Amino acid sequence: MISYQQAVADICNTIKPLPPVRVPLAEGLDRILAEDIYSQLDLPPCDNSAMDGYAFACGGVIDGCLHEVGFLPAGGNFQTTTKNAEAVRIMTGAPMPGGCDTVVPVEDIEQLGNNRIRLRKELRRGANVRYCGEELKAGEKILSSGQQLDPAAIGMLASAGIVEINIYPAPRVAILSTGDELVELGETPDNGKIINSNAHLLAACLRRDGFTPVLLGIAKDQPGELEACMRKGLDADMLITTGGVSVGDRDLVQQTLNEIGMQTIFWKVATKPGKPTLFGMIGNQPVLGLPGNPAASAATYELYARPALNLLSGHQYPLSPTLKVKLASPLDAGGKRLHFLWGNLCTVNDELQFLPSERQGSGQNRSAVGAQALFPLPIDSPPLAAGAYVEVIMLRLPQGQKLS
Ligand code: AMP
Ligand code: MG
Repeated sequence: MISYQQAVADICNTIKPLPPVRVPLAEGLDRILAEDIYSQLDLPPCDNSAMDGYAFACGGVIDGCLHEVGFLPAGGNFQTTTKNAEAVRIMTGAPMPGGCDTVVPVEDIEQLGNNRIRLRKELRRGANVRYCGEELKAGEKILSSGQQLDPAAIGMLASAGIVEINIYPAPRVAILSTGDELVELGETPDNGKIINSNAHLLAACLRRDGFTPVLLGIAKDQPGELEACMRKGLDADMLITTGGVSVGDRDLVQQTLNEIGMQTIFWKVATKPGKPTLFGMIGNQPVLGLPGNPAASAATYELYARPALNLLSGHQYPLSPTLKVKLASPLDAGGKRLHFLWGNLCTVNDELQFLPSERQGSGQNRSAVGAQALFPLPIDSPPLAAGAYVEVIMLRLPQGQKLS
């Protein structure tokens, strides 16, 4: 049995990003760039006004006064060149008229009548002017390969004239549930049957994280049917199975995967939940065999599947962030396996604290509902008092604020 740290290292050392694809910019949100990007344009495209005001030549002002000779909106064009003591009424973003080098904001002038204005204060030459290429020069590198595209990056690329980009695509993930006891949601689970809730759980995790689930349904604990169903998942970017990876007589998932060519990288990790987790490769396709218990499936998705999918997606930082916070309630001593506890981050005395969920236990995933973090209680940890510092794995942001 390997450690959790070793299991994560094995995943990180094995999985390589998917081949990049070229897509329209609008499809790039949250994806990782697979190329350096250089601006096509100067930004701003010409010297222009940063304010609504008056453009003029700083050296030509006589007694602090100017004569208004024209009007220039954003997108407009002023054909003539101003002379000394002349000003053009100008809007934010409008190109600087010929002869002008400075803009006075409209708040800083006094109207004298007859198209004459007086400057309320002296301005330095170039005040309130944005220069051509000041933000970006044509040919300048904007973003580097490996960067994740957030909305600001998409906006930046659009302003730089970038129409298409090379990105690592979002992985398509086949999900296969295994077990003679399973029926699909909507069917009646009679004679001790249970509903295939893991498929819904995992598909929801994948959608939340921007990946594409491909549901393969349920395979009975029978080698022929398992193999046929698994083969349907071989054209996905990753295959996730649930159930059937433990040591029971009907746990046939690993054996069947081996028969269709999987090389096992690890099986069994010293964690609770998640002990029988299986990871292997069928050619370039990663395969994760997750335990069937719903809370174990939920935890092992977060611990192994999410980083694995981040790696396929080209992430340079595939692991979830961790945060050092105080425990909000005491915890019992740790045992012989690293014990992952679901919990929430709550604000106590103006600081974030970790509050473990009640009813942890790998059978049901009630403790995972609404959880924002997982705390790995170390092997053989002594009992921990409230207020002790712990490092938790962040799964999502804490709750937002109410309007007070
Ligand atoms: P297994 O890992 O196959 O031994 O299953 C462990 C437990 O998880 C059993 O109680 C199963 O009934 C349950 N289980 C397995 N697969 C699923 C599933 N797809 N949805 C919900 N529960 C499951
Ligand atoms: Mg089973």
